[in-house]
Amino acid sequence: MSSVSTGVEPIIEARKLEKFYPQPDGNRIQVIAPTDLAIYPGQIIALLGPSGCGKSTMLRMLTGLSPASSGSVYWHGQPVGGETPNVSIVFQSFALFPWMTVIENVEAPLEARGVAEFERHKRALRIIDAVGLDGFESAYPKELSGGMKQRVGVARALVVEPEVLFMDEPFSALDVLTAETLRGELLELWLGKKIPTRAIFIVTHNIEEAVVLADRIIVLGRNPAHIHAEFTVDMAHPRDHKEPQFVELVDQIYRALTRQDHPEATPAELQGILAAKQKRALMLPHTRPGGMAGLLEILADQGGHADLHVLADELSLEVDALLPTVDTAVLLGLLKLEEGDAIITPDGEAFAKGDIQERKKIFRAAVLANVPLLRQMEQALKAKANRTLPAEFFQDLLDEHFSEDESRRQLETAIQWGRYAELFDYDAASGKLTLTEI
Ligand code: ADP
Ligand code: MG
Repeated sequence: MSSVSTGVEPIIEARKLEKFYPQPDGNRIQVIAPTDLAIYPGQIIALLGPSGCGKSTMLRMLTGLSPASSGSVYWHGQPVGGETPNVSIVFQSFALFPWMTVIENVEAPLEARGVAEFERHKRALRIIDAVGLDGFESAYPKELSGGMKQRVGVARALVVEPEVLFMDEPFSALDVLTAETLRGELLELWLGKKIPTRAIFIVTHNIEEAVVLADRIIVLGRNPAHIHAEFTVDMAHPRDHKEPQFVELVDQIYRALTRQDHPEATPAELQGILAAKQKRALMLPHTRPGGMAGLLEILADQGGHADLHVLADELSLEVDALLPTVDTAVLLGLLKLEEGDAIITPDGEAFAKGDIQERKKIFRAAVLANVPLLRQMEQALKAKANRTLPAEFFQDLLDEHFSEDESRRQLETAIQWGRYAELFDYDAASGKLTLTEI
């Protein structure tokens, strides 16, 4: 990385950092491809990427919270693991202790570090004042709005005077105006040098948030996560959404985010990416066939071709909200993505124009060809004389691959798709799946 070219020592440096999750079949899913990344003092870095691409996993490894599967993280040139680095993390979910008051929440990390009561109290009051929580010291989290809760989250993170402040989608649970206010306040603390923090690393899926805040924006690609593009933001603060330079940068980043091919990869890397992609096809985007049908109809109406950004605008959606539906259509071979444009395939066109029976036929063929889980479910049901299995059977299989929540959502999605494809029927009362005989 470029410690040579900048002449500045990075605070944190990741070299060939990778993350795998083991699979029951002895294979492993690669979530993060070998990645080099450095955090330099004086910068706000934004890590941008679609949901599920590996941003939080990367953040946890950089903080030392989660071990790397391969590669290393260095803090001031020393491998993490020995001494715990001085970092703190602000989470999207606020993660406050509900039984503690505001000031007790803010003091908690100091108490954990053995700071004496008087000193603890003094430092907590100072930071509470700085983040605009003055007067709320003895309130409980449940009495606070989302914005005030996250101010507590920020205060609690800053009270330990972290060298690097990590934030994982800190504003995405807040309404738009509150999020904007809190971003402004964060910038004020940072630019006004009111905090000793030397770098901020913020994970987000919001392009505009990244451009408002960051000096450097790293765009992650997925399957497995890798650095897809990097942007330097050379604009004075405060940055105005309407400035041409702002709009142009958002557009460039947007194109980088949606580009699905990997023109920069060597043939060997591409092989690895494709292999990982096939494994990750195990994972279903959480969408309903009806939603995808709507998207394909709109596209067919527009001549089979549209800019995703424009399409999202027309639907008053954030691009991010549209992506799972787009992913579903791409996974099923009904849509292609090229440079941020969605292009309907001949199957997609036939689907959009077909009646319900034709749609089901196309959908059925598409899931059997492209979705290993549904193929597996069909085969398992076929293997039973009575063509029936409890849904729990599949839940257990999925539990091996995913967290409990995720495996439940995977199964719900698979059941919705399978019913629409008329592969099987699901009886919610008995929790049983029965193969549809055709
Ligand atoms: P992001 O923060 O970008 O939304 P995450 O880092 O949380 O993404 O997750 C990246 C990917 O890793 C997801 O596809 C998720 O399902 C997968 N993943 C996370 N934890 C585990 C785990 N314990 N086992 C298997 N896969 C996991
Ligand atoms: Mg995350």
